[in-house]
Amino acid sequence: PNHPQRSPTARNSIGTIKDTSKHQGKVAMNALAATNRNFRLASRLLGLDSKLEKSLLIPFREIKVECTIPKDDGTLVSYVGFRIQHDNARGPMKGGIRYHPEVDPDEVNALAQLMTWKTAVADIPYGGAKGGIGCNPRDLSRSELERLTRVFTQKIHDLIGIHTDVPAPDMGTNAQTMAWILDEYSKFHGHSPAVVTGKPIDLGGSLGREAATGRGVVYATEALLAEYGKSIEGMTFVIQGFGNVGSWAARLIHEKGGKIVAVSDITGAIKNPNGIDIPQLLKHKEATGDLKSFSGGDSMDANEVLVHECDVLIPCALGGVLNRENAADVKAKFIIEAANHPTDPEADEILSKKGVIILPDIYANAGGVTVSYFEWVQNIQGFMWDEEKVNKELKKYMTGAFHNIKNMCQTHDCGLRMGAFTLGVNRVARATTLRGWEA
Ligand code: GLU
Repeated sequence: PNHPQRSPTARNSIGTIKDTSKHQGKVAMNALAATNRNFRLASRLLGLDSKLEKSLLIPFREIKVECTIPKDDGTLVSYVGFRIQHDNARGPMKGGIRYHPEVDPDEVNALAQLMTWKTAVADIPYGGAKGGIGCNPRDLSRSELERLTRVFTQKIHDLIGIHTDVPAPDMGTNAQTMAWILDEYSKFHGHSPAVVTGKPIDLGGSLGREAATGRGVVYATEALLAEYGKSIEGMTFVIQGFGNVGSWAARLIHEKGGKIVAVSDITGAIKNPNGIDIPQLLKHKEATGDLKSFSGGDSMDANEVLVHECDVLIPCALGGVLNRENAADVKAKFIIEAANHPTDPEADEILSKKGVIILPDIYANAGGVTVSYFEWVQNIQGFMWDEEKVNKELKKYMTGAFHNIKNMCQTHDCGLRMGAFTLGVNRVARATTLRGWEA
């Protein structure tokens, strides 16, 4: 009864590729079915006990709340909000809150589970959670967004906390959203900066957190390319999505001499075979809110971006964008998953047959939650780090995780996605077993 919208295939089956056809003709598998499938493949590689496997898959707690607010014109409107707390064996549950029209319980569930494996891959002392509100933040005024965020916080305040569950920004939310959550939470519990991360610096946010996911993507890319004797300089890149993650990744890749030949966002896409001037594009987007009118490139079909000629493709937006419809046409040699679950299992299979190297989401975009951890540590210690220290530690964590993944790939004779999954799942399984989970 908690999840009327959940498809029956999502939790009960292994999530075989056939599930796709059951999903209303969609080209990508249901996000939860896809995530469960990757988990189960990893669990089999690790030889986990079937009871332990089952217990690791089932979320700890699933919260669904109605958030009713007055719009600016006085009419009442209601939005459904979720917080799904997947696992806390390794520490407080951790993950973002997403404001997006496509937020649904299956997707939030999948993202919560991915956070559990992601924090374990990054080797930071957290479990996993994710939240979301099904709304289009672009259609809400600033005061409506503030009211919605406060009502959502009122409904979940007794279920989150510094040592239980620590939210952060995700798609459609930002430092300001975290400031409202912190303020509302503090009315009930007293001033508690460590209850959320990704806060504004003035409220205890960490230097470097804003750029952290994009910067982590770049460190991850460098670690991968080094394996092939390559570096960012001189390689061609396509960036799909130009929000926080995509724009930071683009800026840093540009600084390191990478040539970004196509970029897209929800307003459209542009290409330039000689490389797009990213600092100019950032200025243009800041001034106009638009990308496709930028004069330093030719506008192109946004759907073509994923199959555009390049060395490295970096999807930085929604899940399921690489699927059976476009996977065979991908030209990139490397895909860096800056978004969460951008590659559908069917696409994964097609791409690996083509020899495309995919750096999986639970590692590639772990820089955000890693610097969230640094922020939480700084809040608890009451001591601020300088940005140089944040970035240096981030690099250490990202590089270390890459080598741990490679070791798992060797041990289990598997690709990078399973290398990352076995690394994360094994750490959570060990913590769960040590705690003694059998009744
Ligand atoms: N939303 C980000 C993610 O998907 C960051 C989560 C966090 O910092 O807790 O990893």
